[in-house]
Amino acid sequence: MVSSFARLLKNRYKGKLDQDADDFINFAVDGANRMQVLITDLLAYSRVGRWGNEFKEESSDAVLERALSNLKVVVEQRGAVVTRDPLPVMMGDDSQLAQLFQNLIGNAVKFCKDRTPHIHVSSERRGNKWVFSVRDNGIGIAPEYFERIFLIFQRLHGKQEYPGTGIGLAICRKVAERHGGRIWVESEPGSGSTFYFTIPMEREIKP
Ligand code: ADP
Repeated sequence: MVSSFARLLKNRYKGKLDQDADDFINFAVDGANRMQVLITDLLAYSRVGRWGNEFKEESSDAVLERALSNLKVVVEQRGAVVTRDPLPVMMGDDSQLAQLFQNLIGNAVKFCKDRTPHIHVSSERRGNKWVFSVRDNGIGIAPEYFERIFLIFQRLHGKQEYPGTGIGLAICRKVAERHGGRIWVESEPGSGSTFYFTIPMEREIKP
């Protein structure tokens, strides 16, 4: 309601009051839009673990496909190139795993500055778990932030530089942990990052 009415005010009264009024309405529209994104992201965060689906055998190729179709517009806009190795069948919650891939690939596209994003998704078997990786050629992350970025609301950049709410990686961590796995990053500032997450082959659900 706040967002729609602020937009209505903008469309109907733009240029009809004075410059201050136009500015104030623009601030209200931007603020309402940010609030909407924040609420959507917070809801997604709170749902992981409470509203999950049953674990089933899922093709990670299909799960990745779903994530990429949600990202179609940004991937095309940025001319991002996403490649992948053949991915395994795993036990899990397909919606949450799609969300995990979507957040990692969305970040890989976003934190790339002016380069064409090149992203590679792969997986390997290590003992009784699958290790998935999402590699990018983006801005990279300094080692002192490797842990912090997975905490909710922790961001390394201002909203003007890169938009976002700081919730995406916290969701990824919750999803990986709910599947009995973990998530981490390796990176070199300036030359890209690789995010890894594990999914055990045996079914194991964290409450
Ligand atoms: P958001 O993307 O909304 O800022 P995230 O929780 O997804 O929130 O990420 C937290 C922070 O981690 C980001 O603000 C960014 O500083 C850093 N980050 C995440 N992914 C990448 C990446 N692929 N390359 C560089 N930095 C990243």
